[in-house]
Amino acid sequence: MRRISFQDGVTYTFGPDLTPIATVRSGETVEFVCQDACGGQIRTEKDTLDQLDMDQVNGATGPVRVIGSRAGDVIRIQIRDIRVAEWGFQSIVSGHGVLGDEVDRPRTKVIPIQDGFAVFSKRIRLPVRPHVGTIGVAPPAKEWTTFYPGDHGGNLDTKEISKGNSVYLPVFQPGAQLAMGDIHALMADGEVCVTGIEIAGTIRAQVDVLRGLRMNRPLVETSDSWMALASAPTLDEAAKLATHDGVQLLARGADLPWHEAYMLASIACDLRISQDVDPWRTAKLVVPKSLMRRLPRS
Ligand code: CA
Ligand code: CA
Repeated sequence: MRRISFQDGVTYTFGPDLTPIATVRSGETVEFVCQDACGGQIRTEKDTLDQLDMDQVNGATGPVRVIGSRAGDVIRIQIRDIRVAEWGFQSIVSGHGVLGDEVDRPRTKVIPIQDGFAVFSKRIRLPVRPHVGTIGVAPPAKEWTTFYPGDHGGNLDTKEISKGNSVYLPVFQPGAQLAMGDIHALMADGEVCVTGIEIAGTIRAQVDVLRGLRMNRPLVETSDSWMALASAPTLDEAAKLATHDGVQLLARGADLPWHEAYMLASIACDLRISQDVDPWRTAKLVVPKSLMRRLPRS
C-alpha cells in the first residue's frame, strides 16, 4: 500500500495553487503518516504552547493530487483505520479555548496510550477513539492557513472523522489536492480546552472521486447518520449554515417540501458543536439515515 509521509511533504496552508507531493487514483487506499499537531515540538510536560514555533504547528501531510477529480466533483475519504503513537498530550494556554481567560499559566499534560486506553490519571482511563482533526482540499480562491476550517475542510476538529466513517469534500481545483493531519486520540464535541489528545499517527483511507453530487461544504457519513458540517467566524453563523445545508439535504433526500424538512429537522436532527475554539467555529446538523438512506443526486 502507498504511504505518504510528513517527511515527503507537509502543508501549512490550503491555497488554490498547492503543489502535490504524490498522486492517487480514485478507489486507491493510501496511508498518511502524520506528525502531531505541534510538529513534534512538545516532548515533555515542560514544553508548552507559548514556546512553540507557530510556523511548524498544524501541518497536514500532503497535498495529494487525486487523479481525475475536477471542480464540481466531490471526493469521498473513507477512513479505514487510524493508528496512534504510544503517547499524546493536551496543552492549555491563556487566551485560547472556551475558558481561555480563566487559564492562569500554560500547562501540558502527557497522556500515555495503553492497550487502547488513554491514561488520563490512575483512576481515569478512557477508550481511545482516534480521529482526523484537519482534512481539506485546495479552496476556490483565497488561501487559508491550516488553523482555519472552511468550505474546503481544513481544521474541522469533528470527532466523527474516525475509523469506519467517511468525509465528503467538494472539489474546487483540478486534482482536489487532499491533505490531512492533526490526529487526536480522543476528543469530545467542542474541544473546549483547545486541544484533544494531540498525537502522531497513521491514517489509512480510501479516496474516491464522485460525480453528480451537489455539495458546497463538507459532509460526514457515519453508520447511522449524515452530518452537514459548516464553519464560520462565529458559532451562531456556523449553526445557521449547518442547519441550512442539513435541511436542504433532508428535503431532497427524503423527498419533502422544504417547510416539512425544516420542521422534521427540529424534532429528529441534532444540531451539535464540532469545535468552539478554532479561528472559525464548526457546527454540524445530524440527519439520521432512517430518514434518508442515500445522498440525493443532483
Ligand atoms: Ca485542530
Ligand atoms: Ca489538534
